[in-house]
Amino acid sequence: MSSVHQAHAGPSLARPPSAHRLSPLLDLDYSVVQQCMHCGLCLPTCPTYDATKLERNSPRGRIALMRSIADGQLEATRTFAEEMYFCLGCLACMTACPAGVNYAELFEHARAEAEESGVLRAPKRNLIRWFTVGWLFMDLSRLRFVGVVIRLYQQLGLQSLVRGSGVLKLLPRRLQELEDMTPTVKPKFSSALIPPVMPATGQKKYRVALLTGCAQDLMYSDVNRDTAEVLARNGCEVVTPARQSCCGSLHAHNGELELARQLARKNIDQFPPDQFDAIISNAAGCGSHLKHYARLLADDAAYRKSAHLWDSKLKDIHEWLAQIGFTAPKAGVGAQTVTYHEACHLCHGQQITAQPRQILRAIPGLTLTELPESTWCCGSAGIYNLIQPEMATQLLDRKLAHIVATKAAVVATGNPGCLAQMANGIRQQNIPVRMVHPITLLAEAYRAEAGPHG
Ligand code: SF4
Ligand code: SF4
Repeated sequence: MSSVHQAHAGPSLARPPSAHRLSPLLDLDYSVVQQCMHCGLCLPTCPTYDATKLERNSPRGRIALMRSIADGQLEATRTFAEEMYFCLGCLACMTACPAGVNYAELFEHARAEAEESGVLRAPKRNLIRWFTVGWLFMDLSRLRFVGVVIRLYQQLGLQSLVRGSGVLKLLPRRLQELEDMTPTVKPKFSSALIPPVMPATGQKKYRVALLTGCAQDLMYSDVNRDTAEVLARNGCEVVTPARQSCCGSLHAHNGELELARQLARKNIDQFPPDQFDAIISNAAGCGSHLKHYARLLADDAAYRKSAHLWDSKLKDIHEWLAQIGFTAPKAGVGAQTVTYHEACHLCHGQQITAQPRQILRAIPGLTLTELPESTWCCGSAGIYNLIQPEMATQLLDRKLAHIVATKAAVVATGNPGCLAQMANGIRQQNIPVRMVHPITLLAEAYRAEAGPHG
């Protein structure tokens, strides 16, 4: 337990003897379970509490439920499990909490508790979970195959045909909504855009690994290419193997901690942390999870030491560029007003707020205008927009209203989920703004500086 946590946790309470049932919350270090001092300072920052004003939809209410289970006073019921899946996992409560409550760890164990208890089991749900969490995302060649199928569906004009034919109206409303959210798969995956080893431009100062992600690779492989180029431009030799593994955040956030551990071991094996100055992630949701492999593998004697080294080398791209003192581009990308949406897992999960703004301000021609409630979740939250569409839509509408109010032409954000969620909303509401990753704007400025033959 950290000294911060010790200072606020009060006397260390022993777990009550009645608590004997095996469960993820029971297995969790009791010092984490007992940290909350019920002050309520997190409540105004919680989007679900803000929407309902119900205590059980607040961080404090959820933590009380988790503690009751950890104390053996409550069984995991369906209501408990649904509550844990109503939580966005946005971690705004962690930023607000003066007691240093580790809500991220509580949240993962609570969802694992919900799954272990089996209260949500149903044939359709089991099948979807087995296919996605248990199979598709355990080997990214499977995900790419699905990506190729969707790409063909889109490139051959079948999607436009289906949408224009009206046949979708015959489907249940939820399926229509899901079809409308189908991501556009890029013409090429990252491996076709980035060489396995990209040399540094000029003098080599660092050797870094680049994680290309899962959804990021399908939907935003161009952002991965831009990231590699920006790193090379700043003295990094960039190692980007064509075959990579999922980081496991999807698994950890959906109650499958053991699968998340398997993926963590795969990543450490593929990118031995002692061989790199940094391991780079450009997706906030992944980065927030990737930085905690040591916590995930704490009981694994074979990986414990390398997991600690891994965590120390794992850097979000904005964080790394600010740390090494990136070169400001000399050319701009044309006069544009840009506003910045803070992905929850960048600002709350990794406390990275200044660095993306530093990068945007360094680009000649860009004017940064602040987005009201920039740290408020957009409703993407991993797969939250798929499983809790009503709440996700409320949050998206709130975000889009703020974007419109800024009158910005460009919205920058450092997470594929946020980019996709807001791009969908902008398309549906015909809002004339460009959604972009901050690193793409930096890459475009470097290209402009190099000129057409650079
Ligand atoms: S993670 Fe977000 S939604 Fe969940 S309790 Fe914390 S602030 Fe509320
Ligand atoms: S989680 Fe933190 S801020 Fe919220 S009630 Fe508990 S101690 Fe207070």
